[in-house]
Amino acid sequence: MNLNRRDFLRLSAGAGSGTALGGLLSAGVNLAPSLAAAQELRIKDAKTTPSICPYCSVGCATLVHTSNGKIINIEGDARSPHNEGCLCPKGAAIFQLHVNPNRPTQVLHRDPGATDWEVWDLDRAMTRVAQLVKQTRDETFIEKAENGKLVNMTSAIFALGGATLEIEFNHIHQKLMRGMGIVAIENQARI
Ligand code: SF4
Repeated sequence: MNLNRRDFLRLSAGAGSGTALGGLLSAGVNLAPSLAAAQELRIKDAKTTPSICPYCSVGCATLVHTSNGKIINIEGDARSPHNEGCLCPKGAAIFQLHVNPNRPTQVLHRDPGATDWEVWDLDRAMTRVAQLVKQTRDETFIEKAENGKLVNMTSAIFALGGATLEIEFNHIHQKLMRGMGIVAIENQARI
């Protein structure tokens, strides 16, 4: 379908929803080829690196496009036998995991009852976490259960690992937690 400027404006206004896109779509204009061409142009000279989505144990295959050392696009890898180029909504947003001006880049700490966040340097935060873990473990450690069975555990600490931490991290993380006797461990890596 060929559209001149006047047709474009008329269809856009007639869409009711008020969007130009809505007008074009309701007029039966197929935007897929234009969108595909625009996407192709954007990644034309980019380097393509196969990778996987870090969010869950499905491990959908992705292609990461980089230009001048910066990620410019991430999409599903059509060669993958199990996701065949598709990504779920979470996986489709992986790009924003890497390129996101809203992502916090500093450690923020808020005292109990406080209303404001304070910026901490990483060493201070890690030291504080280590102190609290040691103190809590020492105070709550159970060597033997009531029936005399050796358990070497504490139920006072809960370990929560996010799927945005990759599977390798979660694997090491749960080993550390189990080594400390922590039994309440959850992450999305399903290891
Ligand atoms: S989060 Fe979605 S895209 Fe990522 S691996 Fe899991 S199913 Fe695949």
